[in-house]
Amino acid sequence: MIRDIILSNAMKVASKFTKNNKLAVLTYHQVSDVNSMHNLLSLDVELFEQHLVWLKRHFTVMDLNEAFHLMVTGNLPERAIVISIDDGYVDSYTTIFPLLQKHGLLASFFIATAGIDDGFLWDELVSSSIMSVPNSMTHIEFENQKISLTTYNEKLIAIADIIKKIKYASIKQRNVLIDELLMQTGSSRCEQQFLSKEHIVTLHRANMCIGAHTVNHPILACESDEVAEQEMLVSKQALENIIGEQVNFLAYPNGKPSKDFNKVHQQQAKKCEFVAAFSTEWGCSSNRDLFSLKRISLSDKSEFKFCMRIMLSYMS
Ligand SMILES: [Zn+2]
Repeated sequence: MIRDIILSNAMKVASKFTKNNKLAVLTYHQVSDVNSMHNLLSLDVELFEQHLVWLKRHFTVMDLNEAFHLMVTGNLPERAIVISIDDGYVDSYTTIFPLLQKHGLLASFFIATAGIDDGFLWDELVSSSIMSVPNSMTHIEFENQKISLTTYNEKLIAIADIIKKIKYASIKQRNVLIDELLMQTGSSRCEQQFLSKEHIVTLHRANMCIGAHTVNHPILACESDEVAEQEMLVSKQALENIIGEQVNFLAYPNGKPSKDFNKVHQQQAKKCEFVAAFSTEWGCSSNRDLFSLKRISLSDKSEFKFCMRIMLSYMS
């Protein structure tokens, strides 16, 4: 096929401009069928599987522990890539894990541990409370603003709007705001949607890497230093108790350097005995700045664009 030849040649040309010993770490969140996509970070199942096929075809997909070791010793192969899945929703087990196994690939799962006990994280509670309002409820008041809920689309906009407003609140403030919301919508729980301890053990036994993503998924920069450190440490310990092994890696919630976490949190992650921590800053990881490693997030539907954007990241 001419398109395959063009892509393969473009990859070869791009390879000449990439830097050595660079690791691309792809980030995904939820993967679900189109009908249940209330979550803006969710990717359609077919597209996710297509990404796996493209990754296998053009890149060296690696386990994070192995890739990290090769990165710090300067021995990464060309086009080295790691797949990471953030948060810990149950589709990590029901959808993503079977697809990884089907294609013989490994990935890393960064889990916010409050979800293991509660069955969900705060953003899902917001989504489900808005989606389950009775038809008679045409709007709600949130933070002195009237938010319309008459159509499905309006509910999606409302969810995005409310999550955006709550995201940068501290855990304490967040709980107050969510309680106010739930008082109006009348719902207080949502279905169990998170990984269980058994799921995590199964993922670990299948050689998937288990990483920490704090307990409550706060923006660390919005918390006191003490709370921030506890969030990192307690999630690490909880996961270590589940898998019976050391948890080496952390992904900062939301993950924008300076804005969502800073040098203090990087020092704290080191003190908690993580060996490295990932941000969401766009780019490749390298053996510099191990507590603010970069990642990339892609939702491209074209093989050419998908591959070339990863190649571009190796040049950064
Ligand atoms: Zn997250």
